[in-house]
Amino acid sequence: MEICLNKDINTVVEVLENSIAEELEIQVGDEILSINGQKIKDIIDYKYLISDEYIDLEIKKTNGDLVVYEIEKDYDEDLGLVFSNPLIDEAKSCSNNCIFCFINQLPKNMRETLYFKDDDSRLSFLQGNFITLTNMSEEEIQRIIDLRISPINVSVHTTNPELRKQMLRNINAGKILDILQAFDQAHLEINCQIVVIPDINDKEELEKTLRDLYNLKNSVHSVAIVPVGLTGHREGLPKLKGYDKDLAIEIIDQVEDLQGEFLKDSGSRFAFLADEFYILADRDLPADEAYEGYPQIENGVGLVRNFSEEVNLALRDLEVSYKEAEMTFVTGTLAKDFMEDIRKRILKKFPKYKINVKAIENDFFGRSITVAGLVTGGDIIKQVADVDAYKNILIPSVMLRAQSDYFLDDVTLDQLENALDRRVLVTEVDGEKFIKLLAEV
Ligand code: SF4
Repeated sequence: MEICLNKDINTVVEVLENSIAEELEIQVGDEILSINGQKIKDIIDYKYLISDEYIDLEIKKTNGDLVVYEIEKDYDEDLGLVFSNPLIDEAKSCSNNCIFCFINQLPKNMRETLYFKDDDSRLSFLQGNFITLTNMSEEEIQRIIDLRISPINVSVHTTNPELRKQMLRNINAGKILDILQAFDQAHLEINCQIVVIPDINDKEELEKTLRDLYNLKNSVHSVAIVPVGLTGHREGLPKLKGYDKDLAIEIIDQVEDLQGEFLKDSGSRFAFLADEFYILADRDLPADEAYEGYPQIENGVGLVRNFSEEVNLALRDLEVSYKEAEMTFVTGTLAKDFMEDIRKRILKKFPKYKINVKAIENDFFGRSITVAGLVTGGDIIKQVADVDAYKNILIPSVMLRAQSDYFLDDVTLDQLENALDRRVLVTEVDGEKFIKLLAEV
């Protein structure tokens, strides 16, 4: 495999092994000029144009030669080319100023890229990002329909036009239902998310939104309902209320009633609540089958139930081991009881292990932020150093930025290990891999 760091957007930076491109000896640094005579505007054009069985690929080689490759391939076979920018274009930034935007609530002086607000349909299609559809022209909406760009993840929040304009602080935000109806007629696959805020888009507003989305039966497959996240850095931002135990109980009862109705009508619960509501309410999480294949697990919907089931399965297949080891599980305060429960289950199979759980209070973002994914290295250093932490510290990979060794506050894994003078192990949020890692410590 060849890799280079050339930043030209349509320049090849990697040729995948055993691919058509490798067979044709296309090389890193070659530049794609056109496919079937058409220039490529972005990744959507590229994917669309290469989906043919016969394509003419025009390339400018690194020595300046122009070459046209005539390629015959299977209908949806990839060429095996990777570009420096996965979009083959600049990402579109968002045109909203949502009252609940997490980026507006970040502490100052964080890495600049963390403040970039993307809202790009192509990133939704490629990486599953949620988009609001507020920064797209009619032509761009039509392009999604014509090229059948799907699945798309849409941040709806509410279908009430006026309320949506207020929540997103964008006068263009009110047309969401019209756009979704157009997608519905085209049978595109859509998954939606609602960030719910007490006294803003909950109760009757939430019910109306869910019913509107449910009526888009050709396209909307699932809706995730997630609670607003409020950090301690909201100076100058609108006053919002977060979720507490009573409010969490209320929304669970409301949504579970609707789920029952949808299930009876269509065979699917359709709308799913984030794990956080159940943990806040001190209610049992829904059963594995109630998540219907976990369509919104990336959104924190069913993550805990899925992990728990995976741990059970992995432990079931293990013999009792009398090996000795010691470790501290580090998590956010939300998952403390859950991890205590996992600890007890593990000790039945590893009775000689010493395990404790350390839940980190989030001083970096504010103590109302309780999820493990937003725990920072600095807070771990401050809070774990003082307790009786064991030789091995286990952290979930969600605490680190994607494919990196950095926490959100730029502390690195090495710095954490040095500061704590302990070995730090990173585990994926995958019960089988987690147990495998534990067994190997
Ligand atoms: S869409 Fe709203 S929440 Fe998302 S980045 Fe833009 S302003 Fe923030």
